[in-house]
Amino acid sequence: MSDCLFCKIVSKEIASDIIYEDDQIIVIKDIEPQAPIHFLIIPKVHYDSILTVPARNEIITQIHIVANRLALKYGIVDTGFRLVNNCGENGGQSVLHLHYHILGGRSLRWPPG
Ligand code: 5GP
Ligand code: ZN
Repeated sequence: MSDCLFCKIVSKEIASDIIYEDDQIIVIKDIEPQAPIHFLIIPKVHYDSILTVPARNEIITQIHIVANRLALKYGIVDTGFRLVNNCGENGGQSVLHLHYHILGGRSLRWPPG
């Protein structure tokens, strides 16, 4: 989508700190980190949110596989980490392009705000 921030990040029209990329996914550092490790896992194909991903689409599995690999690589498995999808305005979603947050490196409280 032409006016979508994360589509522009995917196409590199807008610069970001990329820490992982494959043909389906890009992972960047969040511009406003909420934990020592705070990455955004973004599918390259635009979906507004988890609600519009077609049934049996493999992107959600791929996102989890990449999250697991990153948790191992960045040493947050033993300390615990969180994989978060905010959905909808009241769910805390501010960018309408599907993405997951991976947060770790500090003690994470529950419930989130
Ligand atoms: P949401 O609130 O939609 O779940 O998450 C959007 C995230 O994108 C926020 O954590 C916010 O800090 C991050 N963000 C917003 N604009 C940019 C940007 O231009 N670059 C990067 N790297 N992150 C951004
Ligand atoms: Zn988009």
